[in-house]
Amino acid sequence: MRTALLTGITGQDGSYLTELLLDRGYAVHGMVRRASSFNRSRIEHLRADSEIYGNRLFLHYGDLDDTTTLRRVLVQTKPDELYHLAGQSQPGLSFEIPESTVREAGTACLSLLEILRDLDNPPRVFLASSSEVFGTPEVLRQNEETPFRPMNPYGCAKAFATQLGRVYRQAHGLFVCNGICYNHESPRRGESFVTRKISAAAQRLAQGSSEVLELGNLDSYRDWGYAPEYVEAMWQMLQLPVADDYVLATGTATTVRQFAEAAFLAVGLRLEFEGEDSAEIGRDAGTGTTLLRVNPKYYRPLDPARLVGDSTKARRDFGWSARTAGSEVAVAMVRGEGSARGDTTLG
Ligand code: NAP
Repeated sequence: MRTALLTGITGQDGSYLTELLLDRGYAVHGMVRRASSFNRSRIEHLRADSEIYGNRLFLHYGDLDDTTTLRRVLVQTKPDELYHLAGQSQPGLSFEIPESTVREAGTACLSLLEILRDLDNPPRVFLASSSEVFGTPEVLRQNEETPFRPMNPYGCAKAFATQLGRVYRQAHGLFVCNGICYNHESPRRGESFVTRKISAAAQRLAQGSSEVLELGNLDSYRDWGYAPEYVEAMWQMLQLPVADDYVLATGTATTVRQFAEAAFLAVGLRLEFEGEDSAEIGRDAGTGTTLLRVNPKYYRPLDPARLVGDSTKARRDFGWSARTAGSEVAVAMVRGEGSARGDTTLG
């Protein structure tokens, strides 16, 4: 039985990847940080399954900055594959908490690579990099050759970690793959992310809530994909004969406005917009009720522009391409709202 170790197992990607690895017959070990309240809702269905938990799924306490524990878990579990997914994952929030973000997204990766360098049989490693490393790129579609120009502390830390991954691959012969991931969403996305904020509010509003959804720049756009497809690529990368870096993206751009329109339509609410920029509102076309309003409080100090990825290399080397993008992701998220595991079937 092959063994995988995941940092960030309780997160969106960690939970989907755990399901994928268990399906493929792996023993899965996950690092969980100790919190005063339970933070495992996304993997609770796996923990509750006595055939899985304690037999093929094991959790270990350990914060990212606890390198002694990380080393011990690595030595004890001897994983064949290591998926490093943990850390503060919100680019916007990194302006408010830059030091801890950089420690988690940057320095922790260095510590991990240093531990791996000392092991006799280091595992194959996946590092979760981000499109935010490109910041404001000069090319319309970014690929593995596009220069890094990060525009926020999170992007700076991810750029540092990504480059370190390359250095440790070349200088120390470690099998390290960087997945340069564009935004990927699901019903398991944290509620502070704009996509989940929209899908959750759409569902509540359709059920009669009287709230008004507040959003930042409606014309800001992203390359939004579907998380279960991205974790598949993470696994595929580690099965390759040679480690490399890969952009994971849909190649399409969707504005926040379009995402919201699709999510609301999925619950039978048609949005009509009026006003301009920071005074813009979205009304229900049927009743005229205000459902959505722009609040400049949610604008980012610096918004990355033109982030759309080109995954040609991933398609060429391991046949991966995103199947779900933009508005389709919005629909899948709305359909998955409210179910314990956030599962949804795409039509
Ligand atoms: P997520 O849902 O926010 O999950 C983050 C995970 O990291 C959680 O398990 C969290 O634990 C854990 N974590 C945070 N700080 C930690 C610490 N100090 N010590 C130990 N664990 C810690 O993120 P995700 O969407 O699954 O993303 C996975 C990775 O991909 C992240 O590195 C993210 O930056 C990167 N990425 C994601 C996207 C995307 O669109 N999803 C795009 C590009 C890159 P708790 O459950 O206790 O909070």
